[in-house]
Amino acid sequence: MIYDLIVVGGGPSGIFTAINFKGKKILLLEAESKLGKKLSLSGAGQCNITNDGDSKDFHGKYGDKDKFVKRLIRRFDNKSLMNFFTDAGLELTTKEDGRVFPKSLISNDVVSVLLSKLEDNKVEIKCNERVEAVRKIEDNFYSVKTNENKYQAANVVIATGGCLFAKGSLKVDGFNMLKDLEHTIIEPVPALTSLHVNNHFLHSLSGVSLENASLTIWKNEKLVKRAEGDLLITHKGFSGPVVLNSSRYFHNNEQIKINFLGEKTNKNKLEEVIIRESKISGKTKLATFLNRLGISKNLTYAFLTESIIETDIRCSEIDKAKRKKIAKLICEYTISSFTSGGFEVAMITAGGLALDQVNMKTMESKQAKGLYIVGEALDLDGDTGGYNIQMAFTTGMIAAEDLNSKM
Ligand SMILES: Cc1cc2nc3c(=O)[nH]c(=O)nc-3n(C[C@H](O)[C@H](O)[C@H](O)COP(=O)(O)OP(=O)(O)OC[C@H]3O[C@@H](n4cnc5c(N)ncnc54)[C@H](O)[C@@H]3O)c2cc1C
Repeated sequence: MIYDLIVVGGGPSGIFTAINFKGKKILLLEAESKLGKKLSLSGAGQCNITNDGDSKDFHGKYGDKDKFVKRLIRRFDNKSLMNFFTDAGLELTTKEDGRVFPKSLISNDVVSVLLSKLEDNKVEIKCNERVEAVRKIEDNFYSVKTNENKYQAANVVIATGGCLFAKGSLKVDGFNMLKDLEHTIIEPVPALTSLHVNNHFLHSLSGVSLENASLTIWKNEKLVKRAEGDLLITHKGFSGPVVLNSSRYFHNNEQIKINFLGEKTNKNKLEEVIIRESKISGKTKLATFLNRLGISKNLTYAFLTESIIETDIRCSEIDKAKRKKIAKLICEYTISSFTSGGFEVAMITAGGLALDQVNMKTMESKQAKGLYIVGEALDLDGDTGGYNIQMAFTTGMIAAEDLNSKM
């Protein structure tokens, strides 16, 4: 049998293409034993499907890919996705920061809706079938070889996601398939991942978080990136939204600077307020003063110890050198030796199929008619907050619409 469509990969992007394509013979191939495995893990098992607010708020959430995002998101935006789920009977809830979840906070409820829609659309599903190769056999047909079988289809959707670290090795099947079909893959790197710092002096404060810290990335003393958001201290370094959202830009030959007080204060300003305090109330302990600026007791203690300053020093007793040292540590903590958390802990892959090789109106490859690429397999990665799952659904829908227009 020749299928109208074979979808390779049963994550949100592939499933959504299969649900929304109105063709008759659709086959969905998934390497794992069940569909939507990553989706069930997402959002700590609660599944943050999208972000509420205006669709324009999505601009700027995908690094430097705004040009593409604007064209994609207006075709199937967050409201359309939320309507899809509520129309299917799944109640949703929106958190204060705009993240949208199923009201039950159970990711499998999202997966269940998708499975029942696949059934409604009579999609043939084969799990435990890993696709090994996709080849163009004639102008209008593809052969798809799995570990079990060989199939043929008029159209193929590559929805294999990003790099997957499993059982000690990195799986990049989708990227290899696309390379074999003469497509360019932008080097995949882990994104939405934590920062591991060598000689991490705050390791004992793992779990402490700070609101609105700022992080800057520097290369050859030039500012490359600036971000602000909540920061989490971990055993090995730092995490939290400000780190996760910047992680696509971490490279070894760069420096990362953290301002624990955020952009509102810089080291000069901090020095100034310490001088002012020493004049107004010199007896105040520096630790107490720093607490008043919002730095917790434990953190203050760690900063003073790291700066080799007596922990009970009074503001009037601080000389210029000590003042400069503590202000620099708090407002410009510089990290030169670090690694990113890697694919083992990354939530998403940055890199993937070069976007200039895909028609953004259709998600069809510009080189191979009938070949579509959707979801994380594309060189398009978003911030935390539901932006990645939204883009998986958006690109899946755009591919389905184009396939429908061909029927
Ligand atoms: C722990 C974690 C938490 C996350 N939380 C969130 C969140 O809350 N919100 C958010 O927006 N994003 C989140 N993400 C990211 C989000 O899950 C992904 O962006 C999204 O799942 C991508 O969808 P996809 O369909 O492109 O790929 P995937 O969901 O990765 O699906 C690809 C599928 O293809 C299959 N496959 C791969 N190779 C083959 C092959 N050769 N043959 C057959 N099948 C194959 C895989 O087994 C997989 O099932 C999270 C990710 C992780 C890891």
